[in-house]
Amino acid sequence: EAHKETLEFKAEVSQVLDLVIRSLYSNKEIFLRELVSNASDAAEKLRFEALSDDGLYEGDSDLRIRILVDRDAGTITVSDNGIGLSRNEVIETIGSIASSGTRRFIESLSGDQAKDSALIGQFGVGFYSAFIVADKVTLVSRRAGLGAEHGVRWESDGRGSYTLETVEKAGRGTDVILHLKEDEKEFLEPWRLRSIISKFSDHIAIPIEMAKEYYGEEAEKRKGAPPEFEQVNRGTALWMRNKSEITEEEYHAFYKHIAHDFQPPLAYVHNRVEGTNEYTALLYIPSKAPWDLWDRDQRHGVKLYVRRVFIMDEADKLMPHYLRFVKGIVDADDLPLNVSREILQHNRKIDTIRQANTKRILGLLETLAKDEPEKYATFWDEFGKVLKEGPAEDFANKERIAGLLRFSTTHSEGSAQRESLDAYLERMKEGQDKIYYITADSPAAARHSPHLEVFRKKGIEVLLLSDRVDEWLVSHLYEYKGKQLQSVAKGDLDLGELADKEEKAVQERAATEHRPLLERLKTALGERVKEVRPSTRLVESPACLVVGADDMSTNLARVLKAVGQ
Ligand code: ADP
Ligand code: MG
Repeated sequence: EAHKETLEFKAEVSQVLDLVIRSLYSNKEIFLRELVSNASDAAEKLRFEALSDDGLYEGDSDLRIRILVDRDAGTITVSDNGIGLSRNEVIETIGSIASSGTRRFIESLSGDQAKDSALIGQFGVGFYSAFIVADKVTLVSRRAGLGAEHGVRWESDGRGSYTLETVEKAGRGTDVILHLKEDEKEFLEPWRLRSIISKFSDHIAIPIEMAKEYYGEEAEKRKGAPPEFEQVNRGTALWMRNKSEITEEEYHAFYKHIAHDFQPPLAYVHNRVEGTNEYTALLYIPSKAPWDLWDRDQRHGVKLYVRRVFIMDEADKLMPHYLRFVKGIVDADDLPLNVSREILQHNRKIDTIRQANTKRILGLLETLAKDEPEKYATFWDEFGKVLKEGPAEDFANKERIAGLLRFSTTHSEGSAQRESLDAYLERMKEGQDKIYYITADSPAAARHSPHLEVFRKKGIEVLLLSDRVDEWLVSHLYEYKGKQLQSVAKGDLDLGELADKEEKAVQERAATEHRPLLERLKTALGERVKEVRPSTRLVESPACLVVGADDMSTNLARVLKAVGQ
């Protein structure tokens, strides 16, 4: 072929390919899920672009995915009539893994197969899963709107290079042809493919078709005739179905599809809202934090649909930032189909949806905390640090969020964060009117701080805060259920009614009796301290550092210094 070129994969591709094949081997049927999911994305993209240019349909707006088996050739073809790819798009997306995060991904690999394969899903190397079962993959595509002569044929054995040539392709869309490995021929069985489709792809909203099967005489008669197709998936958007008719398994499969996750979600809510602003929301809480939870440009997990038409991924206006771990979809009836990110920014309907979504997730978490504390503990360990951003961001729901927070405290051993503020309130001492906390840069530093001595002596519980976000949290959460939050390391420790008279007397006496000593210390320390004074805070330690009531805590100062402020 004159126009056939051979191109090298970008370096990362071969590395990722290797890894994909190794780590997904035990889960190999997912290749079909990934290819079908790409075909369905392509159909949704076409539908969206056709909103402003219906010429793209080229007279055929019946979108469908077909799966064809050729036993003699040993191939499976996943064929769609979606948006298709131009030559450049093939090079950019299929030849390079078009993710800016690829390098970080490779760096973040742990060598632990289970962990790494979860990462793979999140990186969308979905297409390459074809190489789990195929030793050669051919992709033939033509972008909607381009002439038939602009077809492109890509082919690779997945070992470092691929070929590319321009071909004729009459129909728009993409065919992905898998040349099955010798020991993967089981996938040539149509029943096997059908069962995988119903397991993974039933909820895909466009029809997935396979050739009808005929047996005996009927099969003889039809030999050589073109196949007739029948739909093998259910083909309605899962979220539009009645809740009572959707099984747990189907909800989980849908989650895995949209979240690119291999594990089932921790919990979900599904709501249909009627009235002036009609929409459906199906929201999930994952059981594991994604690798990029702390990335500034982390992908948000809620997809926006308008009347079943996919509009955009990562619709970050549908969820507050501190709930960015939530995955799911919102399908709105009353938004214009050409809605853009800019429009979303200032849309009252979107604001209403976001507020309601927030309440749904907080409600879901409350139920989880109450009824399934073990699951809640899992949630907390994965996402607690994110939820702690809540009180600063969401004033209206501050108290509800505070109720969901969990802390490590002096009440129990270890650094697990399991105590709620409500439990703290219940354990408060007679006469105690504050919630005490200490911030430090590690759980051990918090627990062993000399500031805790007097609290220990009096049996008063103290929250031990050592996550980075904790300073941020306590600078926005001043009180809970009418009780003020108070640092044990700030200002004059006013224990109120908890201080006994005798201690007060001791403190006053010490101030006079030890004046010379205190003055000498002050002179020796000079500028470095504001004041040296006797205290009843300490039981065993001779001295400790305290900051003024209005000053920045020493821990916050450390945090700021660490980030270069
Ligand atoms: P992801 O689907 O997460 O983007 P994939 O590896 O599955 O990752 O696919 C990579 C890219 O290749 C897609 O984003 C898309 O641009 C392109 N692609 C794959 N399959 C198709 C297809 N059937 N039609 C159009 N584009 C496709
Ligand atoms: Mg994909």
